[in-house]
Amino acid sequence: MNENACHRKKCTPIRTPSGPGEAFPQEPSRSTSAGGSSPVFGYNRGMVNEQILREARRLADEVFRPHAQEADQGEVTGQVGQNVRMLADAGYFGLGISPEFGGMGADDATRREFTELMASACGVTGFTQQQLHAGGGFVGGAPSQELRREKLPLFAAGKELCGVAFSHLRRPGAPMVRAERVSGGFQISGTAPWVTGWTLLDSFILGATLPNGAHLFAYIPKAGNEAAMSGGPHIPLAVMNASDTVEVTMTNLFVPQDHVLSERPADALRRGDFCGITGHVFLPLGCARGSVHYLRQLAEKRGDDQFTRAADDFTCEIDACRHEALTWSGACADLPDYKEHALQARATAILLAVRAAHAAVAATGGSAHRLDSPPQRLLREAIFYTTIAQTSDVRSATLDLLTSPDCWQAP
Ligand SMILES: Cc1cc2nc3c(=O)[nH]c(=O)nc-3n(C[C@H](O)[C@H](O)[C@H](O)COP(=O)(O)OP(=O)(O)OC[C@H]3O[C@@H](n4cnc5c(N)ncnc54)[C@H](O)[C@@H]3O)c2cc1C
Repeated sequence: MNENACHRKKCTPIRTPSGPGEAFPQEPSRSTSAGGSSPVFGYNRGMVNEQILREARRLADEVFRPHAQEADQGEVTGQVGQNVRMLADAGYFGLGISPEFGGMGADDATRREFTELMASACGVTGFTQQQLHAGGGFVGGAPSQELRREKLPLFAAGKELCGVAFSHLRRPGAPMVRAERVSGGFQISGTAPWVTGWTLLDSFILGATLPNGAHLFAYIPKAGNEAAMSGGPHIPLAVMNASDTVEVTMTNLFVPQDHVLSERPADALRRGDFCGITGHVFLPLGCARGSVHYLRQLAEKRGDDQFTRAADDFTCEIDACRHEALTWSGACADLPDYKEHALQARATAILLAVRAAHAAVAATGGSAHRLDSPPQRLLREAIFYTTIAQTSDVRSATLDLLTSPDCWQAP
């Protein structure tokens, strides 16, 4: 597909900078498939490891997408739990883990494409697997070599699923989870307000605040900690309800020193969030791809060219937004224009997901609201991605773009 296929640019046009753009190896694909008319999404084939992604693409097409409404409306132990198990059995929880520990050792582009692919097929599967994927990164940096040697092969083989609970560290005011040093380790008390996949996970990475305001990150296994730790009932949600997200309360939970992953000043999280602004665009971009996929199917079914043109336009915007996000990655965090561009890319991805899902609703008509119809699900998922890993800067950029007159007017 060439540039002329981008019929409109609705939101503030994305500019590609000179300089940092060189860090990005190749333009995302805007080429056409061998058949001619349908655009190829995302990365050029050479940029991702297709051997690693082959089974993921098969699962997405043959299992996850066809059952996405069922997963959305079901329990964590139903379709979504089965999907997570299939990914675990196929080794995808070792996607980012080094082959030395039995993982796939996938490069960044392949991992991002995996995230988009999962989110495009089934939002609750994409999000839940991502939360249960987090352990590898944290434990990979553990000071204890024994912990790394013991846990990473288990994560890679999908034999241990490790979640994450630290978004509460971003909240202002009194800390929600506190840690204090005791003999042989730390003692932790408080409530983590959001922990996804509670029934499925065997362990999680917990963030807690120390008396001096620094942050402690620790590996917490469920087994053996039942007396000091309990998960609440699953929080009823309008979206991601099947992700089994709960509050977890800890009362004098003992964490041995060799389960401590890091002690960092609070500024390190702020810096990490700053450098990671564009790191969270892949779920919403995947969701937008899900809507594009749906629009193309509908265009074929109803023979309506406008749906195809809408899908083509969104495809261009998705590719441009991804390009911008990759260009303004955390590697550019010290450049003067970084913050503006990174926030623009993040907010654009959020709005793009919502607009593409909204277009799917508009194209479908009243049946879009049936619970067995993809558009209503995609729209709820798109809205959910608005707040994932939200910081006050991201919130502000999202509101700015939502209220920007440029966003909704034709040039
Ligand atoms: C279904 C679901 C599943 C989730 N699963 C997980 C999970 O598995 N693990 C996990 O760690 N998190 C999880 N989250 C948390 C998610 O990432 C957070 O919702 C998101 O980071 C926003 O934070 P918050 O909900 O705590 O909102 P808020 O407390 O409102 O914070 C949002 C942002 O605004 C800022 N802010 C808030 N109040 C003020 C103020 N008065 N002044 C200045 N700034 C302010 C905060 O510092 C923060 O940066 C989940 C959330 C949902 C909805």
